[in-house]
Amino acid sequence: MLRQLANAAGSLGDAIDFLKQRKLLASKVTCTHCQKDKTWTKDETKGDGFFWRCPTCRKKTSIRHGSFFSKSKLTLPTCVELLFCWAANVPVTHIRSYCGARVSVKTAIDFYNFLREVCSSQLLGEPILFGGPGVIVQIDESLFDHNSKYQRGRAPARIPQWVFGMYDTQMKQGYMTLVPSRNALTLLPIIEEHTLPGSIIHSDMWAAYRQVARLPTVVAHETVNHRRHFVDPTTGAHTQAIESYWARAKAKLKRMMGTTKEMLPSYLDEFMWKESSAWQKRKWTNR
Ligand SMILES: [Zn+2]
Repeated sequence: MLRQLANAAGSLGDAIDFLKQRKLLASKVTCTHCQKDKTWTKDETKGDGFFWRCPTCRKKTSIRHGSFFSKSKLTLPTCVELLFCWAANVPVTHIRSYCGARVSVKTAIDFYNFLREVCSSQLLGEPILFGGPGVIVQIDESLFDHNSKYQRGRAPARIPQWVFGMYDTQMKQGYMTLVPSRNALTLLPIIEEHTLPGSIIHSDMWAAYRQVARLPTVVAHETVNHRRHFVDPTTGAHTQAIESYWARAKAKLKRMMGTTKEMLPSYLDEFMWKESSAWQKRKWTNR
């Protein structure tokens, strides 16, 4: 995927072909007046080098019409370069070493933010369901002690945020969400919403999880006492998969720097979307 993106950024023609293949640009446009298919027409003078034209009424349509790039002022090869940087987790502050002076840090931030919104809406559109008969789902909560963005005249404040997470040990996929509190009233409905009937839950001894086994989707709940063991010697229960998921998410956030409180949920969504590799990669390659 990254290699394809890198190749596509090489020229306008390659960028357009790539974006059409990935259905990020339309391959067919129909005239709303004449109901005729518009023709792909070369435009030497300006813009993207091409436009769509109706053979009957001659009305033109931008090749970006209705696309992800319709509001962007960047050239299409630059858009592909930025897609590459985002997919490769290049920090916005390093963008210039990839795209040169054409792309300002602000432009890169806007572009990344927009891509993160796409991740969020994709995740909202397809809620992730974990577990199922006999499948172990590890659950845990973690404090995200992120930097709030530096403001002039003020020291950067650290605002701790509780995040609840789940990890399906069979699919090897995680889920996390910001929570206002880590009590049972908050956490139990989230666990129920994201588990399939027959799930086995592994967690630490946190009090809010005491009633987990009563949830209709949960058949068993096993705990590990972290004061004594990493892995429970009798049941084998542990939470190491969700803990390494936390570590990966936090390392990623640290690299991104200056995430504001408002932005944290979208960074979490981006991380989840990129990490949900098994089904995402299949989706990309089968297109
Ligand atoms: Zn027409």
